[in-house]
Amino acid sequence: MGAKDSKNGSDSTEPSIHVDRNAPHNPSVDLGRIEAAVREILDAVGEDPDREGLLETPARVARMYAEMFAGLKSDAGRHLSKVFTEDYDEIVLVRDISFCSMCEHHLLPFTGKAHIAYLPSGKVVGLSKLARVVEEVARQPQVQERLTQTVADLVEDRLSARGVAVVCEATHSCMTMRGVRKPGSLCLTSAMRGSFRDDPKSRAEVLGLINRDARMMAW
Ligand SMILES: [Zn+2]
Repeated sequence: MGAKDSKNGSDSTEPSIHVDRNAPHNPSVDLGRIEAAVREILDAVGEDPDREGLLETPARVARMYAEMFAGLKSDAGRHLSKVFTEDYDEIVLVRDISFCSMCEHHLLPFTGKAHIAYLPSGKVVGLSKLARVVEEVARQPQVQERLTQTVADLVEDRLSARGVAVVCEATHSCMTMRGVRKPGSLCLTSAMRGSFRDDPKSRAEVLGLINRDARMMAW
């Protein structure tokens, strides 16, 4: 191995650290208590928490929960605080925002996509900020219904949007891997606000855009 190879090898001393200043952080997470609790669960199911393969599991699970519940104590609406004045009053739609959340009934993940549309009233927001909101609302013990409504309320409130439509589709591990065990089942939820709720024509238009064949949009 020459110097050039080792420089690009896995033992590189300069890992690229990406610090995301907009990432949520939950100071309430007590890693030590989670570790103790996970050890207790392993013990309670008849496992040996001290066998080699499980030694680091409690600490790993604690870090995972810190990540999954990072949005619990933060205001996801802060991502919508920077708005731009724009003379545009038609539909803005961001489709296929992937998310992974944690079902609060079973502490099992549900994963899927969110579609967010709004009708601006002179103010628009950076499109990635809508994805930020979904990401943060998802990072707490959740149910899909509340996630959908919370995102809609935040967009309506912070952007003073004339209309908001949020549609979420997700598969729930608690339905696919336990209980009724129905892999492939999809849960759809929607929250309509303002003119998307009150005006059937506006609602039909936005739902048509959300449901439009993705291949047709790829131009
Ligand atoms: Zn569940």
